[in-house]
Amino acid sequence: MEALAPAETPEDVKLSVELRKLSKRLHRQVGQAIVDYNMIEEGDKVMVCLSGGKDSYSMLDILINMQQRAPINFEIIAVNLDQKQPGFPEHILPEYLKGRGVPFHIEEQDTYSIVKRLVPEGKTTCSLCSRLRRGNLYRVAEELGATKIALGHHRDDIVVTLLLNMFFGARMKGMPPKLVSDTGRHVVIRPLAYVAEPDLVRWAEHREFPIIPCNLCGSQENLQRVQVKAMINEWETKYPGRVENMFTAMSKVVPSHMMDRELFPFQTIKATGVPDADGDIAFDEDESCAPQAPSSVITLRPR
Ligand code: SF4
Repeated sequence: MEALAPAETPEDVKLSVELRKLSKRLHRQVGQAIVDYNMIEEGDKVMVCLSGGKDSYSMLDILINMQQRAPINFEIIAVNLDQKQPGFPEHILPEYLKGRGVPFHIEEQDTYSIVKRLVPEGKTTCSLCSRLRRGNLYRVAEELGATKIALGHHRDDIVVTLLLNMFFGARMKGMPPKLVSDTGRHVVIRPLAYVAEPDLVRWAEHREFPIIPCNLCGSQENLQRVQVKAMINEWETKYPGRVENMFTAMSKVVPSHMMDRELFPFQTIKATGVPDADGDIAFDEDESCAPQAPSSVITLRPR
């Protein structure tokens, strides 16, 4: 006799609804970012950089799904740079990628030894390591004929980068969703730009990606980045929605209310005589800072 499937509990139903919503949100946000920034075009060959972390696995997963439904044709090739860190489990990614049927390339380059040789003991290795990684990935993109290089940075990485650049670099500069590489030879895209990190954590758990831990080299992650991330996580806990607001603010820049003379011609402006809601509100307090007067105390009526 055929065994009966166990009945679904209310928790199971709730979980599957939550995961369906998450899946929809992730695919919608990635699709929207691709459209908004024209990230992928007909005939593109997208080199998806796969580190073995939750972000790059999720990016690849979502792009594969979108490729099957997209109104345009584009190719995907997953690329991992095996930097020969001690203990790197080199079988994990090929096994996963073969299982998914994704074309892939594993580039083996012992950048680990170079970094160990050149960086004095006790100094941070990340800057040289990532420079070597970048150079190798650009070269591989060229060899594979990739037209786009996709990186797995998400919304929270973008906000942290903005704050890092402000705090430690004194520049208002974030991490772009799409830009030409520093060599001028490649177009780098970040399809997860609109995605919140907690959603990626949840998606990676749900999809059971075989995550490769990122501490194999024993190097400390960039300390300033860790500090800024902890700071915004604390804000987010106290005042939910702030990360999203900071992120939205990055695409609503008002040059006339900043101080960059390259972006706005402050030297040459003159009174126009025409009212402008975006003009200076002179002595008014910022609306969002002013204490709200209870409506029962001050009531203004038109005469
Ligand atoms: S944590 Fe390790 S692998 Fe990552 S950039 Fe730093 S040195 Fe390189």
